[in-house]
Amino acid sequence: MKPLLEVKNLSVSFQVYSGEVQAIRDISFEVRKGEAVAIVGESGSGKSVTAQSIMRLNPSPPSWIKPGSSIKFDGMELLNLSEKEMQKVRGNKIGMIFQDPMTSLNPTLTVGDQIMEGLIKHQGVSKGKARERAIEMLNLVGIPNPASRLKQYAHQFSGGMRQRVMIAIALACNPSLLIADEPTTALDVTIQAQIMRVMKDLQNKLDTSIILITHDLGVVADVCDRVIVMYAGKIVEQGTKWEIFKNPQHPYTKGLLRSLPRLDQKKDEPLIPIFGTPPDLIKPPAGCSFCARCDEAMEVCVANSPDLVDIEGSESQRAACWLLHPYAKGEVPV
Ligand code: SF4
Ligand code: MG
Repeated sequence: MKPLLEVKNLSVSFQVYSGEVQAIRDISFEVRKGEAVAIVGESGSGKSVTAQSIMRLNPSPPSWIKPGSSIKFDGMELLNLSEKEMQKVRGNKIGMIFQDPMTSLNPTLTVGDQIMEGLIKHQGVSKGKARERAIEMLNLVGIPNPASRLKQYAHQFSGGMRQRVMIAIALACNPSLLIADEPTTALDVTIQAQIMRVMKDLQNKLDTSIILITHDLGVVADVCDRVIVMYAGKIVEQGTKWEIFKNPQHPYTKGLLRSLPRLDQKKDEPLIPIFGTPPDLIKPPAGCSFCARCDEAMEVCVANSPDLVDIEGSESQRAACWLLHPYAKGEVPV
């Protein structure tokens, strides 16, 4: 089956006062129809820039998508579309939800009007039909008394309810892809779990593909089929959720997992954070970007950047680490 979304050799930079920040450096990945993929990494790893590039929402200038990059959605090269054509894709074919529902919702419009807006604009449906659909959507995301809630404003909803409204808006036009950028980061843990459930249920019901962007590997387990781990603007590992959780290969992925609380955690067993900070992307290291923080770094890692290699015995797992390259075997840690 052809992938719904095909990102190939995507590189994105930002111009800042002190130089060019290479925010994304040659990443490639796919999302298939009906699949939920998580993009995980620390802040600054390039996750949000990836999402914004797919939506063509990166401010340009100061940012630009480099020549040779390709983002194909449903067979269509998004990077060749005019802004007008892109507006028909946004909200209609690709929906997006952001971290902070308070700033993404319009405080001066009722929630109903905001759900109906896209339907009327993109799909040309009547006001009556749009209202029916808005009620149906609020119902689907689990908001009680949808008909009366429709007339209310964002400030009349709690944080969790506002994020449900955002999901209703994003999915009202039945897009084939939903991009959720840290959708639960601003919410407390129980509400986070509820919102993730809502997203998963809707994905099953509507067969929407999802890209879930998060810094927290812990939230992806329930929702996602596949995980992409980003570090310093590159993909360092990808695989099915189970491959990543049960058999991580990249030292950074292993570090992320060690820093997560576990169910079988002993009371006094500490979580181990990943020490250090990511490299400066104005002058990214010539070798492995994780080198300065990696306990297993070898001489080869310093000057040479490892490519992604297939993990033996898996059809989907790949990681970019010299430990996995046969000819680097025998190297000693530095
Ligand atoms: Fe560590 Fe080297 Fe692997 Fe990078 S390539 S993660 S420095 S072992
Ligand atoms: Mg971000």
